[in-house]
Amino acid sequence: MLPSLFISHGSPMLALTEAPARDFLRGFGQTIARPKAILVASAHWETRAPAVNAVARNETIYDFRGFPRALYELSYNPPGDPALAEHVSDLLCAAGLQSTVDHARGLDHGAWVPLFLAYPDADIPVLQVSVQSYLGPAHHYQLGQALAPLRDEGVLIIGSGSWTHDLRRFRGQAIDAPEDPRTHAFSEWMDTALAESRRCDLLTYRTKAPFAADEHPTEEHLLPLFVAMGAAGDNAKSSRIHASCTYGMLRMDAYAFA
Ligand code: ZN
Repeated sequence: MLPSLFISHGSPMLALTEAPARDFLRGFGQTIARPKAILVASAHWETRAPAVNAVARNETIYDFRGFPRALYELSYNPPGDPALAEHVSDLLCAAGLQSTVDHARGLDHGAWVPLFLAYPDADIPVLQVSVQSYLGPAHHYQLGQALAPLRDEGVLIIGSGSWTHDLRRFRGQAIDAPEDPRTHAFSEWMDTALAESRRCDLLTYRTKAPFAADEHPTEEHLLPLFVAMGAAGDNAKSSRIHASCTYGMLRMDAYAFA
């Protein structure tokens, strides 16, 4: 069975800029069985209730401003899977979660930047599911649990966010700038909690992890982690499949759950 994944998508420039996380993503598609479809819970699609996109072919959404022209010239347009989207919506409903199907939306950069690197042929159907940042970690764990049956059906479930995400601390520093000690402390606490399967501590990370509110002033970039954890089930083991830090404060860690 496919693992579920949490991936840090970083800056949109990851698509173009050499970095260890880019190398990791570029090789990733070859390291697991080819999925039948990919479902991404991205930090960049926030709605009041879970929504799933159902389109024949995904448009590339350039949901960022002020980046070099070369980034806007990239595109990633894999097929969607409207029938699978309906199935996803049914699974959410069956779990008691309201859900809607969006028949227009394509892929935001939280979905397309990592997939552009990991699955460059764009020939695997891709769907997105939205996050509800006002509902916190437990809701997203439940959302992941509702999606768990899809793993048996060959669907790769990816939570795409950022292991740390205080963009106020980005002031043009180099991509390999020394890591902020707060970022390091938060990251190591989270990694240890995952390694020790301390699910309750993770779900309440905001009051337990050091510098949690500094590293995530808002939660949307960490919530996809809980979707990936929920999709893997209560007894799943996690493994850190990538660890690196960019700009001294934006960690690019990735985890597999199985
Ligand atoms: Zn982002």
